[in-house]
Amino acid sequence: MTYDSVFNITREELLSLSEKTKEFHYSCLRKWLSSACDDFDKMTTLPSDLRDRLKERYNRVYSSEVVEIKEDINAKKLLIKLFDGAYIECVLLTDYKNNHTACLSSEVGCRMKCEFCATGNIGFKRDLYSFEIIEQFFHLKKVCEKIDRIVYMGMGEPLCNFNAVKESILYFKNECGLSARRITVSTSGYVKGIKELADAKLGVKLAVSLVTADDESREKLMSAARLYPLDELKKTLLYYKSKDSQRIALEYCLISGINTDLSSVKKISLFADKLVYSLNVIPWNTIENLPFKTPDNKEIEAFTALLKKYNIPFTIRESKGQKTYSACGMLVAKHK
Ligand code: SAH
Ligand code: SF4
Repeated sequence: MTYDSVFNITREELLSLSEKTKEFHYSCLRKWLSSACDDFDKMTTLPSDLRDRLKERYNRVYSSEVVEIKEDINAKKLLIKLFDGAYIECVLLTDYKNNHTACLSSEVGCRMKCEFCATGNIGFKRDLYSFEIIEQFFHLKKVCEKIDRIVYMGMGEPLCNFNAVKESILYFKNECGLSARRITVSTSGYVKGIKELADAKLGVKLAVSLVTADDESREKLMSAARLYPLDELKKTLLYYKSKDSQRIALEYCLISGINTDLSSVKKISLFADKLVYSLNVIPWNTIENLPFKTPDNKEIEAFTALLKKYNIPFTIRESKGQKTYSACGMLVAKHK
């Protein structure tokens, strides 16, 4: 099923819609769209005839609609219905400095099916179109005018849907004035996509979900690891570094009894050698019916003590939105 979105309109198409259309109306329309205007009737700098033609052709500005908002401390989760009846979620996260981050989805479900992730456990339905990624940002803008950052850390593996993700990044940079360094793409280690991202020179930040630096354990937990073993991932990250010298984030979902011991830390240290990075520790968010355990404070402290001993730079990510299933790896877009 395809969808004709006004976000994809070309200058020529706009000019052909009505005789009264002038060249500059194209930039007017783009301005309305990037200012989160969701109603053709409110685009008052466009001639009324052109607004009518736009309505006839596209019916509505957004292809998707928000059907539910769930609020938690510092996390607001939007359930979004797409034009074909599929559902996704995106989240607005607020930090202690009152900075707001839009966490966007890139797929309906996820191809990667990581064992410890709720999204992975619902399977994969389809890729999102670039306009569906862009619309999430505007839906979040309705909830919070000021959005400081974007992270592609919602549902899906963004680098498996590279073209749509790239188009949406270019939109946020060029139309919404967001600097590339305020945009982070997180991947489970999809090597082909990391190379494409390096070559595309978009300037965005890269986060890689390492989870464990042990091949055997990684293969059990993540399907990306079955495609690409750690030495290939490492080589690709060094290639990435040759194209973009900025520090990458290695995300480390900490799972009790699985990746918290001394040998795990030694393996991280070996893997990270020669990389410019920081380890982002995310204690596993508890997901019912999955055979994993969230580490307690004692286990987290013992792990971080080992990280210090091995001079591994790290931060612990404070988890937001666990109660409403809005936190990392918890998005399933449950609907009635
Ligand atoms: N698909 C991308 C981005 C979305 S997942 C990726 O995997 O990188 C965002 C982060 O959530 C990843 O670092 C992933 O390892 C982590 N994650 C998944 N399930 C989790 C859970 N139950 N608890 C904590 N982090 C989780
Ligand atoms: Fe997909 Fe990321 Fe979840 Fe893995 S952790 S299943 S890649 S969303």
